[in-house]
Amino acid sequence: MRLSLIRPSDMHVHFRDGAMLRDVVPQTAAQFRRAVVMPNVPPIETADDARAYERKIREAAGDAAFRPLMTLKLTHRTTPAMIRDARDVAVAAKLYPAGVTTASHDGIGDPDDPGLLAVFEEMQRVGMILCIHGEAPDAFVLDREATYLDVVRRIVGRFPGLKVVMEHITTAASARYVEEEAPARIAATITVHHLVHTLDDVIGKGGIRPHHFCYPVPKRPEDLRALRRAAFHSTSGRIFFGSDTAPHPKGAKESACGCAGVYSAPVALPTLVELFLESGREDAIRRLEAFASTNGPRFYGLPVDESDTISLEDGPWTVPAEMGGVVPFRAGETIPWRVA
Ligand SMILES: [Zn+2]
Repeated sequence: MRLSLIRPSDMHVHFRDGAMLRDVVPQTAAQFRRAVVMPNVPPIETADDARAYERKIREAAGDAAFRPLMTLKLTHRTTPAMIRDARDVAVAAKLYPAGVTTASHDGIGDPDDPGLLAVFEEMQRVGMILCIHGEAPDAFVLDREATYLDVVRRIVGRFPGLKVVMEHITTAASARYVEEEAPARIAATITVHHLVHTLDDVIGKGGIRPHHFCYPVPKRPEDLRALRRAAFHSTSGRIFFGSDTAPHPKGAKESACGCAGVYSAPVALPTLVELFLESGREDAIRRLEAFASTNGPRFYGLPVDESDTISLEDGPWTVPAEMGGVVPFRAGETIPWRVA
C-alpha cells in the first residue's frame, strides 16, 4: 500500500553545527519542505548570525527546494534594533527561560523586564513570531510547564498583535489553553515523542532510558491522551507538528548527567503515519496532513503547495542502532511505514 500527503514541514528542529549539522540536515531535508531552526546551538542572536547559519544549512541540505526558516535567540542582549534588522531573515524569535534546557544559561531571567517588553513590542510591530519554551526553571519538573502558563498568558495579554507558538507542549493544561482559552494568534507545536511517551517510558519501565529523556519531560497518561486528541482531532488549525529533533552524541546521553533531547528526524514521519492510522479515523491521512503539512506553514503566513507531495509505502524497516554517532528515536524497532 502506498499513501501520499502534502510534503510536511517540521516547525521545530535543532541542527547543531559542524560535522553533526552535516549529518542531520539531510535527514530533515529529505522529508520536509521546511524546518523552523532553533537558535540555541550555535547561538543565533543577530541577523548576521542567522544568515551565516542559514547558508551552512542550505549547503548541508543539498536540496535547493528545502527551506530552513531561521529564528533568533532572545537574551538580555537583544534589542528592538536587532529584531528590526533580522525581520527579513528570521521568521521568529525564541524565548528560553534561563537554564531550562540545552544552552539556555543566558536565556530570559525576568519575563517582565522592560528591555524584553520593548523587544516584544518591536516583534509585534514587524510581525515576527514569538516561540516560547514554556517551562519555569525553578518549579518542580512535572509542574514547570503548567507554572509557566501564567507567564504566557501575561505576554499574550500585553501584546494583542503578537503571534505566539508554545513549543513542544506536553500537558493537557497547555492543550486546553490553546484550544479553548487563547486567541487565534496563539498556536502550539507537539513532538512525535510526546505523542508516544509518558514519563514511564523514560524512568518507569525497568530502568532509565537516556535516549527517551528530553525537556520538557513527557508527563502523565492523561496528558498523553490530551496531546493525541489535539493532534488527531483538532480543527482549530493551531496545533501542528514540530519534532524538536535534537541530536546529542551517544556518550553525552549515556552519561552520569545525560543531555536532554530526542533525535527523531529519521523516523518522525513514518511514526506519525503509524500513530494517525491507529487513531481509527477514516480521514487519518488528511488529519495528518493538517497537523504536519498545512497548519504550521499557514500559521506562519507561508504558502502551501498542494502539488508538492511525499509518498510513504508499507514495508517494514528496522531503525538503525546508531546514525552518525547518535542513537535515533525508536532505535532497533521495526516500523511498518517508510518514505517511498
Ligand atoms: Zn527544542
